[in-house]
Amino acid sequence: MHAPIRSAAALLAATALCSACAAVPGASATPPARATVQSAAATAPAAPVVLLDPGHNGGNRAARDAIDRPVPDGRGGTKPCNTTGTATAAGYPEHAFAWDLAQRVRARLEASGVRVVTTRGADDGVGPCVDARGAAGGRAGAVAAVSLHADGAAPSARGFHVAHADPPVHGTGPASRRLATALRDALRSGRFSPAGYIGRDGLDGRDDLAGLNLSTVPTALVEAGNMRNAEDAAVLASAAGRDRYAAAISAGVLAYLGR
Ligand code: ZN
Repeated sequence: MHAPIRSAAALLAATALCSACAAVPGASATPPARATVQSAAATAPAAPVVLLDPGHNGGNRAARDAIDRPVPDGRGGTKPCNTTGTATAAGYPEHAFAWDLAQRVRARLEASGVRVVTTRGADDGVGPCVDARGAAGGRAGAVAAVSLHADGAAPSARGFHVAHADPPVHGTGPASRRLATALRDALRSGRFSPAGYIGRDGLDGRDDLAGLNLSTVPTALVEAGNMRNAEDAAVLASAAGRDRYAAAISAGVLAYLGR
C-alpha cells in the first residue's frame, strides 16, 4: 500500500514540519539545548525494514493436516496453508536452502543499515501459512517483502525467475514489478541465468501465489533455480553458491531501496 518513496516523503515532511516549528520565534518555550537534541532525533534517517520470507519449513512434512488447511489466497479462493517444498535429487530440501539463504541475505542487508524481519525464526517448525506470510510485510512496516524459494521443475529445465503478482491486488503493482526487476537484474549481474522454461527474461507475473496476492507492501518471490536440475542443484546445495545468491539478492534489494 505504501511505496518506499512515500515513506521517505512522509519522513521528510515530518522533519520539515519540526524544523519550521523550531524556526518560529517565541513559538516554543523549549530550551535551545533540548531543541537541538530533538532536531537531531527527528532528522536521523530511520532504517528501512525489509521482510524476508524463507519458503516452507522443516516441520511441514510431519504436519500435513496443519499445512493442508485451506486459507485465503487473496483473490477470493483458498490455497493450502503451506507446502513441503521440493528437494535436490540428493535430498537437499528447499526449506533448508531458503532458510540458509535468508540468513545470508539478512547479514548482508543488516551490514548495509537495513532492518530485517523474517516470517519464521527457525527451520524445524511448521508454517506459517501463506496468508500470514503475505500479511507479514505490512505488519512489520516493511518497505519491501522478498520470498525465497527454489523450484522443482523438470530436470532438463534450469535458471532463476522472479515472480510478482499479476494482475496486482493492493495497488503495489508498479512497485512490486520494480522490486522484481531489480532482483532479476542483480541475479543476472551475479552471473545467474534467467529461466528458459517459465516466465520471460527472468520475470513471471502470477495470479496464484497467495503470499504475493495478500501483501500490502511491494513484494516479489525469487525462485533461485531448479532443484531438480543437476547443474542448478550443485550451486543451490553449496554454501559458496548460496553466498553468491545472497550477494545478488541483497544487491537487488538495496538497488530497489536506492541504497
Ligand atoms: Zn517453494
